[in-house]
Amino acid sequence: MIKFPKIDKISDKFGECFRPEILRISREIIERERKKAIKGEKFLNESEIFDEISREYENFKNLELKSLINATGIVIHTNFGRSVISPEILDRAGKNLENYTNLEYDQNIGKRGNRYDYTAKLFSLLFDAPDALVVNNNAAAVFLVLNTFCKNKECVVSRGELVEIGGSFRIPEVMINSGAILHEIGTTNKTKLQDYENAICENTALLMKVHRSNFAISGFTGDVYMNEISKLAKKRGLIDYFDIGSGFVYDLNFNLTKDEPKISDLLRAGVSLISFSGDKLFGGVQAGIILGSRELISKLRKNQLLRMLRVDKITLSLLAETIKAYINKEFELIPTISMINESEQNLRKNVEVVAHILSENKISFEICKTETFVGGGSLACRTYPSVAIAFGGIKPEILEEKFRKNGVIGRIENEKFLLDFRSIFKKDLKILANKILDIFHE
Ligand SMILES: *Cc1c(COP(=O)(O)O)cnc(C)c1O
Repeated sequence: MIKFPKIDKISDKFGECFRPEILRISREIIERERKKAIKGEKFLNESEIFDEISREYENFKNLELKSLINATGIVIHTNFGRSVISPEILDRAGKNLENYTNLEYDQNIGKRGNRYDYTAKLFSLLFDAPDALVVNNNAAAVFLVLNTFCKNKECVVSRGELVEIGGSFRIPEVMINSGAILHEIGTTNKTKLQDYENAICENTALLMKVHRSNFAISGFTGDVYMNEISKLAKKRGLIDYFDIGSGFVYDLNFNLTKDEPKISDLLRAGVSLISFSGDKLFGGVQAGIILGSRELISKLRKNQLLRMLRVDKITLSLLAETIKAYINKEFELIPTISMINESEQNLRKNVEVVAHILSENKISFEICKTETFVGGGSLACRTYPSVAIAFGGIKPEILEEKFRKNGVIGRIENEKFLLDFRSIFKKDLKILANKILDIFHE
């Protein structure tokens, strides 16, 4: 009689794990081993079966959405979910999610209301934006704008701005899919106002500018400011649209936003339409935010596609609370902003908390000054100061893997493994120190 472990025993042994997956794996393995046994082949004993279940379960654990400590120094990291939402914003937004709401209901008249009106009102308070619309992400915003205004019509874009954002979002391909006809102008390094003027024909609908979010062109270069493009579009009866990618609201420290287009300046200059991501520098939830004139936004609102791209109450509640935090200048509620703006002195204080625990436990390390990027398609190529803990002695690739498997993602620089404190939350400092102790003492 062949005996395999009973389900109860397996459940007990893997009590901490997600039971349905443990049961599925166990059945599969036991079934396989039983078949081997029947055929007279060599099969696994109980402890080998437990090991096999553990190994298989690792794959499930690897997929599970879990918290990580981001020690790469990159505050807006697309792989790690871009902007983090603060507990306060979550709490404020969460209140409405436990109940029925007036998401699409006008309580004054007792009829259907519009889900975007409150967000639009808040954006008008923050930016003086005439009107606003929110879609799933900025890629959807670009798609909706082009589909609404450029179907079978030409959209003029500089060759220096035909960008690819991570995850294979390519402006030329989005255009084709939206039904717009791409009219490329200028060259990779230089585009002039004259190029826009020359490109305009009876089939032109829109002049578009795309922000160089994740790359820079230097040397013999030139491009046209949005307000000039905007003026030209108005003179010729066309629409002007700026995909700014990552919108910032107030200037950031370290001169980071010195040459960046500012949302409020663009609107003041009369740009007809702009769009940006909700979870890059804006520091909120994933969304595509479109701001612009009432006339154009109302056309976007009428496009049937909006129904496919629309956001739910979770997104709208989180976004509303983030906009309100901006209006009230409560930057501490927007982790992306407070982390980027954190002074070097405060980063050093955070480093000291961890360094103290490591020293007490005789772990060797050094504290070093470093430079990092904002990331996530924001402020390309611009670095700003940070402070890191570096570990020597052990091969950096080995350390990187050990930390990664313990939920801490660092980076390798100059043959050393670094934990960059620019992107580490204060609340995680003790947890991080304990993980380091575990890693070095295992
Ligand atoms: C990031 C980015 C996008 C895509 O935005 P998502 O919110 O990631 O969909 C589009 N255009 C530009 C210029 C960007 O930087």
